[in-house]
Amino acid sequence: MSEATLERGINALKEQIDAPVASFFSSCVSCGMCAEACLFYTETGDPKYTPIYKLEPLRRVWEQEYTLFGKVKKALGLHKPVTDEMLEEWQELLYDSCTMCARCSMICPVGNDIAYMIRKTREGMVASGNAPEGVKGASVRAVTIGSPMGVKLNALEAQIRHIEADSGLKIPVDVEGADYMALLSSMEIMNFPEYLEGLAKIFKQAGVSWTLCSTAFEATNSGIQIGSSDIARTLVQRVVDGAERLKVKYVISPECGHAYTAIRWEGPNLIGRPFPFRVVHILELLDELRAAGRIKTKDLETDTHTFHDPCSLVRKGGVIDEPRRLMDMVTSNFVDMKDRGKLAWCCGGGGGVSSNEDADELRIKAFKRKRDQIAETGADVLVTACANCRLVIEEGLEEYNIEMPIVGLSEMIADHLVVDDEPEEAEK
Ligand code: SF4
Ligand code: SF4
Repeated sequence: MSEATLERGINALKEQIDAPVASFFSSCVSCGMCAEACLFYTETGDPKYTPIYKLEPLRRVWEQEYTLFGKVKKALGLHKPVTDEMLEEWQELLYDSCTMCARCSMICPVGNDIAYMIRKTREGMVASGNAPEGVKGASVRAVTIGSPMGVKLNALEAQIRHIEADSGLKIPVDVEGADYMALLSSMEIMNFPEYLEGLAKIFKQAGVSWTLCSTAFEATNSGIQIGSSDIARTLVQRVVDGAERLKVKYVISPECGHAYTAIRWEGPNLIGRPFPFRVVHILELLDELRAAGRIKTKDLETDTHTFHDPCSLVRKGGVIDEPRRLMDMVTSNFVDMKDRGKLAWCCGGGGGVSSNEDADELRIKAFKRKRDQIAETGADVLVTACANCRLVIEEGLEEYNIEMPIVGLSEMIADHLVVDDEPEEAEK
């Protein structure tokens, strides 16, 4: 990346102002409804966390450069230029207090997509050198090592050896011509290896032909989180190259909300061409296997279970009904949260917030919203479908001295799977 300077930052902000951004700023009626949609505002009551206010650097550049009123103000010296000090101050608002969950975008009465604009404003923050150190470090590791947590292929291979030895299952790697190439998030590799074991068990039973890719196993896209299209493009291209090398028909996005948005929705735009394969989230695939009768479950749980919707999965990805149908495969006692699906509240750790140490204290405060929502259901167990949400919720509950098991949905399906003696042959 080029050296970060204020000038580059302002130029990056100018470049990010497209027709939707211009129309969003001109249509804002300053009603403040977005504030009530954002957990950083509702849980602190601090007006600086109002979503539209977080966009002030981008709004100023838009007004000064692209509106007559702003140009006149600038000519008369009445404008307030964006300075390094301002960007430094806004670092907290743009990174610590926004998960790009897009709840505010759903609520805004004039349809302003604030999360889209936060993502764009972060491009200016990166170019001006004002991204937080933790998020910068994760992005550098993602590009140079291949994973934001610094997980290398040999660490994955070690986990594979353990899983294979413990379970007797086979984890295929670099199988050319497999139908599906599964991606993982670093957190799944290091913190929740039961996810990978669960996949191997389910796919064996369902006869799914699949593989991991040794050159592209990481799904996390730190470029989207920090706000650098260059980094995001490099990481998407790595997956595309891996999938093309192995000639797969599908790429499976793992239990990670933002990874799905990054590869499925932003991916083709970033690399400037359609993918020669389809991207599916693991829950979409499991639901397809369920519908086709290729996976069945038994011994359903009777404790009350609830489900946390990862924001990127439900609001940006539309994967809402699939997890609920899958929950019915594992529990006879499912209770939904009050604000569910598209209106789900964020765990407070998405969009790079959980890799940003500066945000730890605020994240725990914002987590009160999720804590209360979970408590309202009276559930005994929380299930989710994002390794990042899972860790953030675990940490949050611990902070508030609440003991509650948190489980990944795919892993639950694997635990309840009916395993035949003679599984079907893998399809090609
Ligand atoms: S809800 Fe929409 S219109 Fe209202 S202040 Fe926020 S961005 Fe502006
Ligand atoms: S995207 Fe989510 S976290 Fe960010 S300002 Fe909007 S509601 Fe708040």
